[in-house]
Amino acid sequence: MNLRKLIFTNNACYKAGRTIIPKGIMVHSTGANNPNLRRYVGPDDGLLGKNQYNNHWNQDKPGGRQVCVHAFIGKLADGSIATYQTLPWNHRGWHCASGSKGSGNDTHISIEICEDALTDVSYFKAVYKEATELCAYLCKEYKLDPAVDGVIIGHFEGHKRGIASNHADPGHWFPKHGKSMDTFRSDVQKLLADSGLPKPETPTSTPNEEAIWNHLTGKGLNAFAVAGIMGNLYAESGLKPTNLQNSYEKSLGYTDAGYTAAVDNGSYTNFVKDRAGYGLAQWTFWSRKQALLDFAKAAGKSIGDMTMQLDFLWKELQAYKAVMSTLKSATSVKQASDAVLTGYEKPADQGDTAKRKRAGYSQGYYDKYVKTVTSTPKKHYCIQVGAFSVKANAEAFLAKVKASGFTDAFIKYSE
Ligand SMILES: [Zn+2]
Repeated sequence: MNLRKLIFTNNACYKAGRTIIPKGIMVHSTGANNPNLRRYVGPDDGLLGKNQYNNHWNQDKPGGRQVCVHAFIGKLADGSIATYQTLPWNHRGWHCASGSKGSGNDTHISIEICEDALTDVSYFKAVYKEATELCAYLCKEYKLDPAVDGVIIGHFEGHKRGIASNHADPGHWFPKHGKSMDTFRSDVQKLLADSGLPKPETPTSTPNEEAIWNHLTGKGLNAFAVAGIMGNLYAESGLKPTNLQNSYEKSLGYTDAGYTAAVDNGSYTNFVKDRAGYGLAQWTFWSRKQALLDFAKAAGKSIGDMTMQLDFLWKELQAYKAVMSTLKSATSVKQASDAVLTGYEKPADQGDTAKRKRAGYSQGYYDKYVKTVTSTPKKHYCIQVGAFSVKANAEAFLAKVKASGFTDAFIKYSE
């Protein structure tokens, strides 16, 4: 990060002199094709270069508007990237609504990334990286946790949360380069990983995880969604389909295996109404346990059968429309994990710590299965023999090749 300072002391916002306790960071982008810092930050300090129109924001009301942000990221005169802090970080900015309106101004530090024509890959990479580093720095300064919902948000997300005006930035830009606010947050988290914040817990290996990964992947879900489901199932049951909720083992007098066998052979008859969580998703409520039991019976499977439970879970999920729609279009592990937690599993504790914990498990599965799957591409060594002008000769030659063991040999026709 190349952090410099030029406080906008002439701006009416600075002169208003109000302070905040920073609760988060709002990321903006300028919405105009001009990557040069000097367009917004001035006067020239020898690095910025001269703004010949003198229309930078270090004036009472830039362009007649009541606007001011805490930092700009863009190009110096020599083309290198820098961050300029333009307000004290705990000053109340005017960034997400005009003047005094917009409650995001009361809580969030604002950073504004200078847009270019939105197509330059190397410029985007550089300012995106600079912005993640600035956010990691601010998170440390103000003890902010980027994994907590609402701490680091884009302007467009601020609008969705009802704390900012209706702007699209930077959501119209990041996806053009394969990024999103979700990737941004997780990149900031990575930067902070070694700086004192608790590291996310990862799941310990369990015998069923690969089969569950493959089963759910087979349903057509992407890796973020599959990981998000699995992190939650791990938190519920440790991915053990015969898991009887621990607190009920004593009161019911059963082990996992004993309970499962007793339900299967009919000697235990209170499965539906005993209020004990059971199985991969720790199904607890009577109507869901009834449905699970009916499903197992119809399939002729044990109540503890893993594949049966996964199929049941899949069937259940179809009724959770919002969760399914998030899963089908998931763009991050955290997004999928949070959706399953708050929309499907709905445990008593849905707070940030629970979210963080489950997202950590989910990320563990993602890292384990996506990386091992994608990092070993198959190599092919192709041999092309030549061309025959008579089709019958080509076929005769192919027959010889195949006879010698090259089962993949084929003829490419061009007639
Ligand atoms: Zn904005």
